[in-house]
Amino acid sequence: MAIDDHSPPIQSKLLIGGRWCDGVEGTTIAVTNPYDGTVLTHVAAATTADVDLAVDAAERALPAWRALAAHDRGRLLLKLADAIEADTANLARLEAMDTGHPIRDCLSLDVPRTVLCFRYFGGMADKLEGSVVPVDAGFLNYVEREPIGVVGAIVPWNFPLMFTSWKMGPALAAGNTIVIKPSEITPLSTLRIGELMQQVGFPDGVVNIVTGYGNTAGQRIAEHPRIGKVAFTGSTATGRRIVEASAGNLKKVQLELGGKGPNIVFADANIAAAVGGAAFAIFHNQGQACIAGSRLLLHESIADAFLEKFVALARSIRLGDPLDLDTEMGPLTSQLHQERVLSFVDIAREQGGEVVTGGRRPEGAAFDTGYFVEPTIVRAKPDHRVAQEEVFGPFVTVLTFNSDEEALAIANGTQYGLGAGLWTQDITRAHRFAKRLHAGMVWINCYKRVHPGSPFGGVGQSGYGREMGFEAMREYTVAKSVWVNVDAQLPPFYKR
Ligand code: NAD
Repeated sequence: MAIDDHSPPIQSKLLIGGRWCDGVEGTTIAVTNPYDGTVLTHVAAATTADVDLAVDAAERALPAWRALAAHDRGRLLLKLADAIEADTANLARLEAMDTGHPIRDCLSLDVPRTVLCFRYFGGMADKLEGSVVPVDAGFLNYVEREPIGVVGAIVPWNFPLMFTSWKMGPALAAGNTIVIKPSEITPLSTLRIGELMQQVGFPDGVVNIVTGYGNTAGQRIAEHPRIGKVAFTGSTATGRRIVEASAGNLKKVQLELGGKGPNIVFADANIAAAVGGAAFAIFHNQGQACIAGSRLLLHESIADAFLEKFVALARSIRLGDPLDLDTEMGPLTSQLHQERVLSFVDIAREQGGEVVTGGRRPEGAAFDTGYFVEPTIVRAKPDHRVAQEEVFGPFVTVLTFNSDEEALAIANGTQYGLGAGLWTQDITRAHRFAKRLHAGMVWINCYKRVHPGSPFGGVGQSGYGREMGFEAMREYTVAKSVWVNVDAQLPPFYKR
């Protein structure tokens, strides 16, 4: 099936060693459109045997790929970026239908950011330099960064296209080969990337795509004895399982996990900018973002005035068909997830929280089949579950504070530490908070900015390791230290 008359057929097979194939066991997974429940296609459900074949293929491709001049690896990534750009209309539709993202976001964010990421790492491939270390007289010591080998990548459903590029870009630029598993819920854009890679001439086996469930295909990637590293984005609970499964061969693990981002608005903030920023922080992509500003901390003195504007904005967000260019918020990506998000409304009420707006499925025939949740604003206390647990939906928990110290204590008062934002005109306070916030990323008078050059990742239960930039290149390489005796007179160690 194709998504419209002008688009290519949807790819649904596994990509292993340059061949599109069915899974060894022949089982499949239905991929549905979260807006109307229609089945878009059935993709292969990879099992252990398929992952093993994919690792074999990645191993076979490794020697030639890592031996390729870095600029030639980069050139292929640049060609891929061009091919993705040329495929924008198709990829945006595919992503919108598979995930429920509004197509205007796919066109303005998901696809362009994917292009930017591949372009950045295409340019990066020949910029990763080693170093020469000043050591003892008579010795030359240099350090090279070598690829790890076969890398496993496991991707979640919230930004499947972008996260595919975040993992593939640095891994390939550094000379690794890959076995990648998209989420079973949203595998289609990753498969399309596989087709475009073939079109631009990536050698067979450099990238292998296995669609399948987490507890089978994902688990096998995490435990595989010949995968040297696993890069994972997903929930904290799954991250823990991956660490356990990785222990067998002591593989390197990189974890981008959940978050409960504090977004702090001080009394001196530009309120109009902060209202808009707070809405983007939580409602973009239906709140399904690890870095979502899901805790809104308001200074008591401005809380009511802020909320009046914020609630009005939330109520005005246009929900609807993701393929309609006017739609600002689509359905959540799965029914299971819709039910989970709505369950937090009951949890909030049970603990004494106040639902200020939203908290329901929207009414009307247009919303009958889709997994919609209204933009939801809840007032609660810092120790309530909705202020501690990741809801991962269009659901923001509002908390108030009276002093900077109280704001900081609330902001740092969860197990997570991914993104954090603050809105103030006081430059000293801004930098003081940037330093003291327990977070991998801090946004001042903005929220949720990302760029392929800037490190992305968290602390605490939000994981470890960094995507993007030179940091990512270090994550996908290992340092090799080489010692050369250029002039050293070595006295015998054992005097005989
Ligand atoms: P998830 O953990 O359920 O699944 C993520 C991926 O892991 C999927 O591909 C899934 O199939 C796979 N998986 C599941 N069980 C597995 C197992 N036992 N072994 C190996 N793989 C397994 O997460 P999700 O629901 O798809 O994504 C939402 C979560 O991702 C949220 O918690 C969100 O915060 C987090 N996330 C984090 C970041 C970040 O960069 N920190 C970015 C986006 C999403």
